[in-house]
Amino acid sequence: MIPAKFDYERADSVDAAVSLLQQHGEDAKVLAGGHSLLPLMRLRLAAPSVVVDIGRIGELSYVREDGDRIAVGALTRHHDVANDPLLAEHCPIVSYTAGLIGDPQVRHMGTIGGSVAHGDPASDMPTVLLALDAEFTARGPNGERTIPAAEFFSGLFETALNPDEVLTEIRVPRTAGSGWSYQKFQRRSQDWAIVGVAAVLSRSNGGFGSASIAFTNMAESPIRAAAVEGALTSSGDVAAAASQAGEGTNPPSDTFASAEYRRALAEVLVRRAIEEASSR
Ligand code: FAD
Repeated sequence: MIPAKFDYERADSVDAAVSLLQQHGEDAKVLAGGHSLLPLMRLRLAAPSVVVDIGRIGELSYVREDGDRIAVGALTRHHDVANDPLLAEHCPIVSYTAGLIGDPQVRHMGTIGGSVAHGDPASDMPTVLLALDAEFTARGPNGERTIPAAEFFSGLFETALNPDEVLTEIRVPRTAGSGWSYQKFQRRSQDWAIVGVAAVLSRSNGGFGSASIAFTNMAESPIRAAAVEGALTSSGDVAAAASQAGEGTNPPSDTFASAEYRRALAEVLVRRAIEEASSR
């Protein structure tokens, strides 16, 4: 289908983008890689009257050290995240997962910021960033603010970003000393996850000192598997912890899988994720 009529504005800086968003109000939408927004517009599930293209703001594409964190510019393409040496060394779950997104074309166009701002519960990177307790920086008319991942994903395609804010940066912790895993279950290699599980674990005294586990496609937004985390750190029993996978979830039923199937799958993937993370 052809999108509804819209005006196109290209911003050459973050401030210009914020100013355009402020000027056009809730009818305006940021365009980054376009690999989620444009399909929605073509299906007429989104019909912004103005599209503000930030895709050529070069200053938003980078990966760099930032104290005890690694900072990633919001416009960094999935391909560049997947192949970045700093991330591979200090936070490998992020680069590994970026390499699992879609196909090469999607990874060369889609951006980490677009993936986060879109708020799709089936997206891979938001789950990983939630498990990592990442921080997000947004810039709006009143300046910058930092939003913790735990407060960012608020519902189905909903985030804590205001309509006049641009997501500018994602900061992830260095995970040296922790084991990690992202388990993505899909029918074909380039598909979206039917269910995904991110795990970041540390071992202590033969058990688990800390456990951060999060789900893709098990609720209206990416969610932490709090029951699994609690069971794992208190008992150290992997099977018992994995049996808690369905707790607090609300998975969708669709043409790919029923909610019941997703709950059963989540238990299997949680076990695999803990086992793989424990071996790293
Ligand atoms: P856009 O489409 O440009 O924007 C998406 C939304 O975010 C829009 O609402 C836009 O206004 C907003 N936005 C974007 N950037 C910002 C910003 N900096 N500040 C504020 N708002 C912003 N994703 C997966 O996780 N796993 C997959 O397996 C997967 N497979 C895919 C397969 C196909 C065929 C396609 C087309 C997409 C797939 N995707 C998948 C989605 C892909 O990762 C998208 O690129 C990503 O979700 C959105 O990034 P984008 O830069 O294209 O954002």
